Amino acid sequence: MTEQNLNGDRKINKEVIEKFLNNFIKGEENKCWLWFGTLHEGYGRFMCNGEYYFAHRVSCLYYNNLIKSPLLALHIRECFNKNCVNPNHLYLGTQKENQEDRSIIYPESYNHCKGESNVTHKLTEQDIRDIRYKKKCLKHKLHQLAKEYNITESYIGLIVQGKAWKHIK
Ligand SMILES: [Zn+2]
Repeated sequence: MTEQNLNGDRKINKEVIEKFLNNFIKGEENKCWLWFGTLHEGYGRFMCNGEYYFAHRVSCLYYNNLIKSPLLALHIRECFNKNCVNPNHLYLGTQKENQEDRSIIYPESYNHCKGESNVTHKLTEQDIRDIRYKKKCLKHKLHQLAKEYNITESYIGLIVQGKAWKHIK
């Protein structure tokens, strides 16, 4: 995690993005998109113009139309692949959020990225809109929604805050 901090003021440019886009295959929007380039401590990492770039970080910036960010690029708790570069599985957060995220592990979501047993994969775009509507307008509680959709409260929180499923307005 420390090395990611060093990337805080590192900008991404066209060349970086091009390299990034050439090393994974865009899959379904709610499944892991695995980096097949080189790895560093499990994270996708590549070199461009003499500098190292973490693939998930570039993904986070690129898909959010940013060229840099002082925040860390983090995987949502439901994603167990460090080399996943799906922007729906990533968010920009602080070191504190990162630690909180690691402090609780939900064993039932371990199979998350393997497919059928993973409930978060069954969410549809309409579910995302419904979740946000129910939370913001109908004032449903996080734990109610977590139960209703069979996903973790933290993930509901990310959906409501727009950190997950960002492309759904
Ligand atoms: Zn993932």
